[in-house]
Amino acid sequence: MLQGKQATGVQVLIKGRRLELKARKEVLLAAGAFGSPHLLMLSGVGPEAELKPLGIAMQHELPGVGQNLQDHPDIVLCYKSSDTSLLGISLGGSMKMGKALIDYLRNQKGPLGSNCAEGGGFLKTAPDLTRPDIQLHSVIGTVDDHNRKLHWGHGFSCHVCVLRPKSIGSVGLTSSDPSAAPRIDPNFLGHDDDVQTLLKGYRIAREIAAQTPMARFSLKDMYSQNLHSDEQLIELLRRRTDSIYHPIGTCKMGQDEMTVVDSQLRVHGIEGLRVIDASIMPTLVGGNTNAASIMIAERGAEWVASA
Ligand SMILES: Cc1cc2nc3c(=O)[nH]c(=O)nc-3n(C[C@H](O)[C@H](O)[C@H](O)COP(=O)(O)OP(=O)(O)OC[C@H]3O[C@@H](n4cnc5c(N)ncnc54)[C@H](O)[C@@H]3O)c2cc1C
Repeated sequence: MLQGKQATGVQVLIKGRRLELKARKEVLLAAGAFGSPHLLMLSGVGPEAELKPLGIAMQHELPGVGQNLQDHPDIVLCYKSSDTSLLGISLGGSMKMGKALIDYLRNQKGPLGSNCAEGGGFLKTAPDLTRPDIQLHSVIGTVDDHNRKLHWGHGFSCHVCVLRPKSIGSVGLTSSDPSAAPRIDPNFLGHDDDVQTLLKGYRIAREIAAQTPMARFSLKDMYSQNLHSDEQLIELLRRRTDSIYHPIGTCKMGQDEMTVVDSQLRVHGIEGLRVIDASIMPTLVGGNTNAASIMIAERGAEWVASA
């Protein structure tokens, strides 16, 4: 809620009841890289081109709200395996899982104590690079379409993601109804450099899976067994690349006209409103985003406390 250029509180829907909560000092927005720009735009703070067509009254024009969406584009190499010690669905596997469940409940140990993404690494796709441009996460099960697609049998997966993508996406509005999802366009692989980096990373991950120590798992590549040329693999990347859940940047910090918050996370042009989450990162970190988000929250909390 805004009175002129002053944030005064928030409206919330609780079990169908709309309540207005008044802020004594500040409103802190921490709805993440999709939620924060969405709520700002619904509140009339954002680019005119998003708000006007939906009849949302412009309270404060900030063209950068929802722009600059960045995320690590990720492709998963999925393998089937005859090794039932890997996670999966099978009769033999169910017996093992039963035992594993007992082990976990009694001792908090065993396969069910695993975070599943047990290993990983940071790699350079060319020796002359000064820092890694690819990250791998390996998983002791078949992760297909974020586990929406389950497969009979056991398997192994390896995520490959581009650490500093050049493709930039956006978040916009589909409706002025707050219960409608925002429009999310990650624009994965929009920049050809990202395609080339991911292609190199894919080939490296495939080479790792083909090494002798992996032979005991009898891995069978589920999606690229017979794909060898760049053209074939790029077609696969374009079909299967998706998020590894690291969206940032849609309320970016800075001073130029496309930034949304200042160096203490205060929304430009609005009094009493801060954004404190991953959306304020101007550029994507070259690794997982949770630690950076916690750091932003801790710094934000200090500024709020001392305001
Ligand atoms: C499946 C998954 C796995 C991940 N694994 C890792 C990992 O292993 N390591 C790592 O470093 N990072 C990981 N991440 C990324 C990490 O979780 C995020 O970078 C981090 O949580 C971002 O923090 P945030 O505060 O910006 O947003 P969030 O943690 O997403 O918090 C935003 C909150 O706002 C709420 N919200 C949104 N809209 C509204 C609304 N309209 N009204 C009320 N509430 C709203 C959401 O429900 C959510 O609770 C993972 C993310 C996901 C989704």
